[in-house]
Amino acid sequence: MATYTGKLLRINLTDSTWQEEDIADSSYRHYISARGLAAKYLYEELQPHMDPFDPENRLVFSIGVLAGTGLQGFSKWCVTSKSPLTNTIFRSISGGNFGVWMKYAGYDLLIIQGKAPVPSYVYLDTNGVQFHPADSLLGLDPRELQKRLKKNHGPRTESACIGLAGEKLVRYAVISSGDRTAARGGMGTVMGAKNLKAVAINVPVQKPVPFHKSAFEKLVQEQICMLKGHPRRENMNTFGTPYITTVVDALGVLPVKNFQEGTIQQVEDISGEVFYDLKKAKAGCYLCMTRCGGMRQVTNGPLEDSLIDGPEYETIYAFGPLLGIADKQFIINANAACDYYGIDTISTGVSIAFACELFEKDILTTADTDGLDLSWGNKGSVFSLIEKIGKREGMGRLLGEGVRIAARNMGADASLYAMHIKGLELPGYDPRGIKGYALSMATSNIGGSHMYGRPRAELAGKVDPFAEEGKGESIAQVQKEQAVEDSLIACTFGNSGLDVAKYAQLLTAATGIDAFGEGDNLLRIGERILCIERCFNMREGFGRKDDALPRRLTSEPLRKAGPSTGQVVKDLDTLLDEYYEALGYTGEGLPTAEKLNDLGIVK
Ligand code: SF4
Repeated sequence: MATYTGKLLRINLTDSTWQEEDIADSSYRHYISARGLAAKYLYEELQPHMDPFDPENRLVFSIGVLAGTGLQGFSKWCVTSKSPLTNTIFRSISGGNFGVWMKYAGYDLLIIQGKAPVPSYVYLDTNGVQFHPADSLLGLDPRELQKRLKKNHGPRTESACIGLAGEKLVRYAVISSGDRTAARGGMGTVMGAKNLKAVAINVPVQKPVPFHKSAFEKLVQEQICMLKGHPRRENMNTFGTPYITTVVDALGVLPVKNFQEGTIQQVEDISGEVFYDLKKAKAGCYLCMTRCGGMRQVTNGPLEDSLIDGPEYETIYAFGPLLGIADKQFIINANAACDYYGIDTISTGVSIAFACELFEKDILTTADTDGLDLSWGNKGSVFSLIEKIGKREGMGRLLGEGVRIAARNMGADASLYAMHIKGLELPGYDPRGIKGYALSMATSNIGGSHMYGRPRAELAGKVDPFAEEGKGESIAQVQKEQAVEDSLIACTFGNSGLDVAKYAQLLTAATGIDAFGEGDNLLRIGERILCIERCFNMREGFGRKDDALPRRLTSEPLRKAGPSTGQVVKDLDTLLDEYYEALGYTGEGLPTAEKLNDLGIVK
């Protein structure tokens, strides 16, 4: 098997049919794979203004061309759809073995369309696709469900599945594989809307063979040698992303109490070292020697007494400082409860923080909260709300819509406290103290994501983080690079030291396509991916007005934020003008006809 299969599997749930289709070589040349290729198909196949719950919405699973080779940190998978949270194109990336199994089955893409007449799951093996009723699996959490599927189809079965929240259409439901999740944007909600509980695959391992085998293997060996002694890999292997908490606190951009403040006094209680001490075993993704995960003990809630892989930094932020909490065990237990129901920890934490601030401001009272006292730091109430969101009952019905819709439904001043961009709840970096993040998150085609283009120079202290000029070019550049990395899929945490030039060498050696290594072709592909995603959104009516920040970030100076105290985003317009100019978009943030022509995108 070559490193790219040239095939996709299309599954129609409405009439239980499936077919293989070829993927043109030119599609790989223009979009690489994973995020890029999925964006192309979604753009071409979806009618504008389609409801994300419409059966004709697509759920596109995709994998990178370097996955399953010996390369370390390149075997995660991606899922793309129109998001019920943002109404934009969306991509979410996860670890777990599912993606590589898809490739072993002979497919780089799995496109799921239609809606099953009854709750179902799909099973794929060497004989093809089978459609099974899932009545007996309803309500099962992703861990139990995966065990059940292994029991039904063999221990080598790997699956992507949803929990109760996906079935109930909570708008930020996740898709789980192993202990990992494609967490953001409600990809699990789309799966639930299709009446699809799981996709399971059981096929033999088929190692991909690189086109230039010896050249590729030499590059792999170089990567492994480089990773062995790399301090960042060692740091990630030891502490994982929890090390970020104290770094972000020191910068004054750790969001506290729904972005009211930028540091928390008890930060040492939830530091990387603290979570390191609680680690019972290492964990990680398929074919990754960084193994940044860690198994930790759950002491309360539906997964009590089991071990979970977590928490990541974003979960520490969302169930810690954001809610005025600095309790390590509570954060682990909250993480486990979200995993159990199958909900995104960031969106869940931000939705609860939104409710807590409304309670503080007397916009909500116990009459609205099912009697819960939502004072900051009330852990019992937070835990109850996770359960209510996961089951979509009581107040959880409203909060499970995400803060944008919840605020609209509440009216009054609620929207002032809804911390989202394009409907996606914000991650754990306050953009007021890192203006590059303000621009990157505002212009992100998937809404408020920290993984759409990280302002690396600012985070490394090489550029003034507070400056509001001269950032358009560098943010356009990191977004292009991120689009390339997501199309490979190169894990941000697992391939320290590799850059776009090295990706080009690897791609050429793996696929035999010399064009990947020509000039700045990969960055041009990154630009094309950003552009086609923007075209998708443009068709939906998105434009400059949507490249916006929550009002708090542009009008309320950051408090108790160490070096970032007093910071606010004063001039987003200048940042946007520079960014649009760098990408050749109009002042309205839209690609011109010339730009589309230049990048070969057909309108
Ligand atoms: S670094 Fe961590 S998240 Fe990335 S591939 Fe390795 S184990 Fe997975």
